Amino acid sequence: NKHIVTVTMNPAIDLACSVPDFTAGKVNRATEYQKNAAGKGVNIAVLLRKFNLPITATGFLGADNALIFEKLFKKQNINDQFVRVPGETRTGIKILDPNARTTTDINLPGLVPEPIHIKILIHTVERLAETAAMVVIGGSLPATVDPSIIGELVAVIKSKGAKAIVDTSGPALSNAVKALPYLVKPNDDELAELVGHPLNKLEEIITEARKINKSGIETVIVSLGSRGALFIQKDEELFAKPPKVEVVSTVGAGDAMIGGMVAGMALGLSLEEQVRLATSLSAATVTQAGPSLDKLENAEELEDLIAIEHINIKGGISCQKL
Ligand code: ATP
Ligand code: MG
Ligand code: MG
Repeated sequence: NKHIVTVTMNPAIDLACSVPDFTAGKVNRATEYQKNAAGKGVNIAVLLRKFNLPITATGFLGADNALIFEKLFKKQNINDQFVRVPGETRTGIKILDPNARTTTDINLPGLVPEPIHIKILIHTVERLAETAAMVVIGGSLPATVDPSIIGELVAVIKSKGAKAIVDTSGPALSNAVKALPYLVKPNDDELAELVGHPLNKLEEIITEARKINKSGIETVIVSLGSRGALFIQKDEELFAKPPKVEVVSTVGAGDAMIGGMVAGMALGLSLEEQVRLATSLSAATVTQAGPSLDKLENAEELEDLIAIEHINIKGGISCQKL
């Protein structure tokens, strides 16, 4: 059984503190806090383990505070192939005020991988891709890493016969798209930035997604938050709409969607089944606080409530329903 590899070049430790009546310029007390190892590829790896798939995770990890990640990988039985970089993985502090219902974010600066670490990562991905079915590259890049690394990684993954899947934004996304991975999943804002102009109508989004598909990317997904997502392949185009759910935190929605597609492919599901799985996992993820889904059952409950439509040739699905 071939494994699945996830690559997280800019992971983060999420520190969420509950601080009633948080006030700037004062001593504030947290009544509770949660600290989690996170980052897109890490979240995807954790979700994929719920399907019992063999997972290897790589990317860059700060040597000085790697323990929280190492514990997670051990607990989840994820093969840890992260390249250790001197210093600390960044921490994102979220201050939640339950009374004012506000969230204040403080993002600490991230890792500074040197050229040697970048070289080691490329070699690691090359080695892991050899025996991988799919390699998922997720998230942003450390500030010191040139976006062209994404193109380089996609080329390396493809050369080893594995499927490259990329979820990133900005220059990293445009570099990825040029290298023609197997699958990309921009959200509507990321797609607009990629094409360089605003996309106001669903028809325009479909047109742009089709162009990217035609350029040589097998599966183009455009996610649209609570409105659902478009799935464009050469011979099949679907639009999936999740049911209305109680939103607790949208963090990790995109990761759950990618995780669902990857799990669906690994399990040999049809496109429609993959889409149903991915959409239910992502919708279930927004109903809970953490970035990765607690229980698969929470998503299974939603599966029958996902509306899936085939898009007609003109792109004119029942857009007014959006
Ligand atoms: P991320 O911030 O994790 O990168 P994203 O912006 O890339 O997310 P979204 O389009 O916001 O991705 O969400 C991905 C999928 O999650 C959507 O296509 C949808 O299926 C589901 N989803 C997101 N928000 C909601 C919501 N409010 N209600 C139901 N489902 C949602
Ligand atoms: Mg979003
Ligand atoms: Mg996203």
